[in-house]
Amino acid sequence: MRGAVLYGPRDVRFEERETPKVIKPTDAIIRISATCVCGSDLWPYRGIQPIAQPTPMGHEYCGIVEEVGSAVKSVKPGQFVIGSFFASDNICLICKIGYQSSCQHAEFVGTAQAPVLRVPLADGTLVPTPEVPSQDLIPNLLTLSDVMGTGWFAADAANVKLGSTAAVVGDGAVGLLAVLSAKQMGAERIIVMSRHESRQKLAREFGATDIVTERGDEGVERIKQLTNGIGADSVLECVGTQQSMMQAIQSTRRGGYVGYVGVPHGVELNGEQLFFAHVHLHGGPAPVRRYLPELIKLVWDRKINPGKVFDMTLPLDQVAQAYRAMDERRAIKTLLRP
Ligand SMILES: [Zn+2]
Ligand SMILES: [Zn+2]
Repeated sequence: MRGAVLYGPRDVRFEERETPKVIKPTDAIIRISATCVCGSDLWPYRGIQPIAQPTPMGHEYCGIVEEVGSAVKSVKPGQFVIGSFFASDNICLICKIGYQSSCQHAEFVGTAQAPVLRVPLADGTLVPTPEVPSQDLIPNLLTLSDVMGTGWFAADAANVKLGSTAAVVGDGAVGLLAVLSAKQMGAERIIVMSRHESRQKLAREFGATDIVTERGDEGVERIKQLTNGIGADSVLECVGTQQSMMQAIQSTRRGGYVGYVGVPHGVELNGEQLFFAHVHLHGGPAPVRRYLPELIKLVWDRKINPGKVFDMTLPLDQVAQAYRAMDERRAIKTLLRP
C-alpha cells in the first residue's frame, strides 16, 4: 500500500509502505474510510518539532474492520469503527476514571494517512457505530477521532455549564469545535478570538455570539469589556503558544476555569502570576475515548455537524497538497479519501 511519510520540513511524500498486519492478538486492522491532516501535524511539518527519521503520519481515522486478532471480542470484521489517536485498554485505573489518553498501556496510533491501519488494544480503543454509516455522516464521524473530542474536552475541562460565559482562544478546527461543544453544554455567551472572516462565519454557525479580533493585552481587555470587567467563566485554549496561553489565563475571571488542549510549544508559566490569577487549569491530550459513545450518538441523531470544519477534500495520494493548504491557511482542515 502507499501512505504519507514526512521526511523533513515541508516534505511529505506518498510512498510505498508495508501493509499493516495483526501483530498482537489484541490488534485490529481497519480499512480507512476517511482520514485527515491535524493542526498538530503542522508542528513537525513546519520543522518546529524536528523528526529523527522519515515518519509515517496521521492519527485521525475511521473505517471498516477487516481483521481482528484472536483476543479481540468487542469489534468484528465488517463493523464501522472510530478510535482515538491514543490506543487504550479502557480497563486500567486511569482509563476507568476517564483519562484514556494517559492509559497505563497507551500506544500512539500514528500511521493513519494510509488506506489500511493497525489499531492496538482494539477492544478498548475502537467504538463501532450502530450500522455502517451513509457517506454524508463520514466527515462528522471522522472528527470524533480527535478534533471534535478535543474541542469537547476543552469545554468539559473549562467547566462549561448551562448559562456560562465561555471564551475560545484559537479559530482552527479545534477552536471552532470548542465553540460547538460550549454551545452543546449550554454556554449562553460564546466569545471567539478570530481574525479570519470564513472562520468567524463558521464560529457563528456553531454558536459564537461575539468575535474578538484583537490579540495579546488588547484581546484580554476586549474580553473583559464583554464580561462586566471580570473575564469569562470558562476559557478554552486551543492553540498552544505562549501568547495564547497567557491570553487564556488573563481572560478568565477569578475562580474561573481554563481548559487547554493546544499542544504547548515553548509555553512557560510564571508561578507568581499563576498564583494571583486564581484560576483552575486543566488540559492535556484529550481523552477522546471517554466521549466517543456520547458524540457518536449526537452525530448519528444528526444533532451536531462537526464535519463542517472540513473545507477541503482530496484523494489520499494528494496528501502533500493537503498539508500545504493547511500550512498556508487556505484550508481549515483537509479530509483525505483513500
Ligand atoms: Zn489530531
Ligand atoms: Zn488504560
